[in-house]
Amino acid sequence: MPSQQTAIRTCVGCRKRDDQAVLLRLVRDNSDGSNAVVIDDRRRLSGRGAWLHLTPACLEQALKRGAFNRAFRGQVDPREVEDRLHTLKEASLRSHPKETVPPESGSEN
Ligand SMILES: [Zn+2]
Repeated sequence: MPSQQTAIRTCVGCRKRDDQAVLLRLVRDNSDGSNAVVIDDRRRLSGRGAWLHLTPACLEQALKRGAFNRAFRGQVDPREVEDRLHTLKEASLRSHPKETVPPESGSEN
């Protein structure tokens, strides 16, 4: 019987707590010195993890606040996460061609 299948984690973007099933697990991969943030799709990588909703808003907030650097205690490169979101965005644009999202020219701050 299922027990303790759910665990609640905090998104480093919006800081809301959510079921880890809907959050992306991120870990830092420094095996080649790149300090890349990699997506732990299978949840089997060890090490310090961070959790993020796979949404542009959460990624943006995380980047703005330097949440990744804080979560991983150092300068990290979140390119893989950004790439993943780009891919998703393109896929959803393709399936909803009428919903064009204007690029946000947010204020730097
Ligand atoms: Zn979030």
